[in-house]
Amino acid sequence: MSNDDEAGFESLHPKGGADKKRLDEIIDLYPFPKKKWVQIRFLPKRILAVKQHWVSIRTKDGKEVNIPKLCIEFDPATEGKRQNVSCPYCKLPGQDSTRTFYLANAILREDQEEKPQRLPASLPEEKRTGFKDLSSRTWTPVKVFRLPAKLASDIQSYKELNVVKKNGERKEYDVSSARYGMDISIKFDPDAKGAAMYMSNTGDKTPLTEEETAYLTYDLSEKYIYGNLGLETEEHANSEVKRMTIIEPDNKYDKKPVPTRSVVRKSDEYDLGDDEPEAAPVKKERTPEQKAALRAKKKKRLAAEQAGQKKKAYDDDGDDSMPF
Ligand SMILES: [Zn+2]
Repeated sequence: MSNDDEAGFESLHPKGGADKKRLDEIIDLYPFPKKKWVQIRFLPKRILAVKQHWVSIRTKDGKEVNIPKLCIEFDPATEGKRQNVSCPYCKLPGQDSTRTFYLANAILREDQEEKPQRLPASLPEEKRTGFKDLSSRTWTPVKVFRLPAKLASDIQSYKELNVVKKNGERKEYDVSSARYGMDISIKFDPDAKGAAMYMSNTGDKTPLTEEETAYLTYDLSEKYIYGNLGLETEEHANSEVKRMTIIEPDNKYDKKPVPTRSVVRKSDEYDLGDDEPEAAPVKKERTPEQKAALRAKKKKRLAAEQAGQKKKAYDDDGDDSMPF
């Protein structure tokens, strides 16, 4: 037997992230247009909770990037902690405020109004599962909407406004209810701050028609989404944390972005050293010369900070505006 049996691709075990996909590669993730109201109708289907960390790392060629990592101890069914699993990303500095977002199927009304005259036939697999194959030409006005926590909470609370009286009894219905649900309007404003970035409002009550109930949707099961995004085992996550050059946020004094020259250091060499004097409060009166020198120093520091901010190309920064 020759050694050629060992040649070629058969003996390889590539783990170059080929099994990891982005959300928009597996579902039709709707990109909210800027500053425009869109009208949608949520479907009475599973809404999946996703908890994702953004970890700042330095790449081999010195670039600072933020990479998404699924929280491995997060249980989407309960939105609590999984038993017997500990997520090393949760323990990284600055990760304590990591928030959950939600994925939901909804009819996009403007797409529904533009239904083509001739519709390509569904694939047999689509007919069987009811799920749209992202690569097929089959038409559906259903998209997946990524809802930051505050928006999801707002939409959930509209239930209180959606009261139906039956036999003298008042009952609240979820906005996604097939029979008693309603349209929701959402506006995305990337220039707004924090929770104001997504505005929402209730629309007409709209029972789902037979046609609407039959629209193909997207598979938002834990297995499909977490499986494709590449949920790591605890062992793998631990080795990732050891392997990566993680950039720690500078929160010794305040939450300001770190100056550029500090963030280029490896985390284990990291120190605040020469930045200290300005951060410490100084009570005694300064001379005009000292004040001018301080202003110049501050200006320089701000410029450095801005340069630092620009480098954070993929920084989610808790604003929930960045799809991945
Ligand atoms: Zn975690």
